[in-house]
Amino acid sequence: MTTPVFRFAPSPNGYLHLGHALSALINFDMARATGGRFLLRIEDIDVARCRPHYEQAIYQDLTWLGITWEEPVRRQSAQLDGYRAALTRLDGLLYASFETRGEIARLVADRERQAPWPRDPDGAPLYPGDSRSLSAAERLRRMEAGEPYALRLDMAAALARTGALTWIESDCGGKTTSVAARPQMWGDVVLARKETPTSYHLSVVIDDAEQGVTHVVRGQDLFAATAVHRVLQALFALPAPIYHHHRLILDADGQKLSKSTQATALRALRENGATSADIRRMVGLA
Ligand code: GLU
Repeated sequence: MTTPVFRFAPSPNGYLHLGHALSALINFDMARATGGRFLLRIEDIDVARCRPHYEQAIYQDLTWLGITWEEPVRRQSAQLDGYRAALTRLDGLLYASFETRGEIARLVADRERQAPWPRDPDGAPLYPGDSRSLSAAERLRRMEAGEPYALRLDMAAALARTGALTWIESDCGGKTTSVAARPQMWGDVVLARKETPTSYHLSVVIDDAEQGVTHVVRGQDLFAATAVHRVLQALFALPAPIYHHHRLILDADGQKLSKSTQATALRALRENGATSADIRRMVGLA
């Protein structure tokens, strides 16, 4: 049997909170219990929001929790050439779109005069597809003129190539179910932008494959995104890991924890005298 490979993949755009502790500890404990490997990956492609001191805080908070990981740590900002190379393999399935977020909102509002416009699982309106009908020459002209653009996956064309997809969802207790992926719910997702040759979806798929991750264990909030990841895995002919989407830690109002709430930040809890054993209890692991 191959050695299971788990990973925890935070973004250094704020301090880790109890929800991250749950995710990191489940992955670390499962790696230990199965004789597997545990990797830490820093997802720092969003240069506008990621900060070096948050990355240092991730290392400190995880060490305090008693978590150890393999070195070197993979940092997505060091992998841009690999993501660029992967994009070239999607030739014929990508197109450049030029609308700003505000323009997209206006196009959607226009269409909503007739009928409700579909939203993706995160609540954002699906891209209305206006740039898809531009001629190749017009797209090239606008890109060469330096206009900002997003490279989108033509989801219908991608699905025509991959066919229907499923993934294996494990409950981590030995029971698995096959989940039918519904990537159509996301529409033509952005895979890269003019300034950044990747996106969350693209880099997570490339990295999980290059790092040999066999088990993707992450929060329930990313359950629907797995459908997009399955499409990319199929297009790149990459193996599909087993997935487990775990429960989320909610605040008193039933909302997902946010990195901007200080009260549940691990370092704030530590400064207030909590121990790592207290954190395990607070997230329901002890
Ligand atoms: N970087 C993502 C986050 O911090 C997690 C990605 C993943 O586990 O797939 O929410």
